Amino acid sequence: MPEPTAPETRRRTLPITAVETHILDIPLVRPHKFSVATMHTQGVLLIRLVTDDGVVGWGEGVVPGGPWWGGESIEGMAALVDRYLAPVVVGQDVLRPEALARRIERAAPGAPFARAGLETAAWDAAGRALGLPVHQLLGGPHRDRLPVTWALGTDSVGFVVEEARRLLEEGRHRSFKLKMGGEEPAADVRRVSAIADALAEDASLAVDINGAWDEYTARRWLPSLADAGIRLVEQPVPAAGLGSLARLRQQSGSALMADESVWTPADALGLVTAHATDVVSLKIGKSGGLSAVRRIAAIAEAGGIGCYGGTTIETSLGTAASAHVFCTIGALDFGTELFGPFLLSDDIATEPVRYEAGELILGSGPGFGITIDEEKLAKYKRR
Ligand SMILES: [Mg+2]
Repeated sequence: MPEPTAPETRRRTLPITAVETHILDIPLVRPHKFSVATMHTQGVLLIRLVTDDGVVGWGEGVVPGGPWWGGESIEGMAALVDRYLAPVVVGQDVLRPEALARRIERAAPGAPFARAGLETAAWDAAGRALGLPVHQLLGGPHRDRLPVTWALGTDSVGFVVEEARRLLEEGRHRSFKLKMGGEEPAADVRRVSAIADALAEDASLAVDINGAWDEYTARRWLPSLADAGIRLVEQPVPAAGLGSLARLRQQSGSALMADESVWTPADALGLVTAHATDVVSLKIGKSGGLSAVRRIAAIAEAGGIGCYGGTTIETSLGTAASAHVFCTIGALDFGTELFGPFLLSDDIATEPVRYEAGELILGSGPGFGITIDEEKLAKYKRR
């Protein structure tokens, strides 16, 4: 019997030939409030990456309501990509997205949000060129659906509870996150406790303090949040306070989550070594793309820490990019907050990402499976 012949394989290369940027402004359905900033519109940096045989990949760069979170802005990111990052990827092989990620990182180590936009465009193009969803390039999904929490507003207790009740009844979400840190701690905790009293039986509740408290304030008020039924407390103290986080973790009845404290794989290693957190929030923006998110998740998993899929309020494109990497992470025990498309009044995809019963459904198209609607691009493009 002759040996069956294996199909011929060869290594392909596909050079990147051009990179274009567009700034878009998309209104939100309601203001989104952080401890420092309030967003009314989301600025989106849309990056179009073209390859030698005409395959196009799209990437999205966003920041949460301006430079307060990490120092980058949409306008600065566009200039950085046009002037400094595009030249380091043009001529390079798009079918080596991991190597490209390192190359982009070396060119602008301090600008992860801009890098993430460009790196996601490269992953999208690679997937499209090979006819595969990006999650398959990354080893395949652990799950095809991702639970999605919803960020409740900062309106009156009655209004917020009514919104949550409606979403629970519609089956749209089963978990909620509340922003804290914008008010005096006593009043803030009173407000959150009243909301939790009405909802904690039926929904999983988290709060995000965005580092607005010091260690004493957190020590004083974390027990009240745990008593009220808050399951997860995100970034109670500033990013640099690993010792504070570690001490608070010893006494907190709620799980503590690091967000601003974990940007890089080295940050994740520091959190593990300091026993400073129960969960890390993964975001492609703050970490510079899919590649670094996977390295952070591997360190968290090795350290026995859970992962959560965070958002920077992306359109369907950035949401799909996040979903493609998050679904490949085994330790994603705390779900996601990929609610960006619900908070934006419109989308830039011909077919937005799909949600069902509180979960985001993973797509199966090539790349991130998102087609950009050119009319919407023209409509929201900043002049
Ligand atoms: Mg956060």
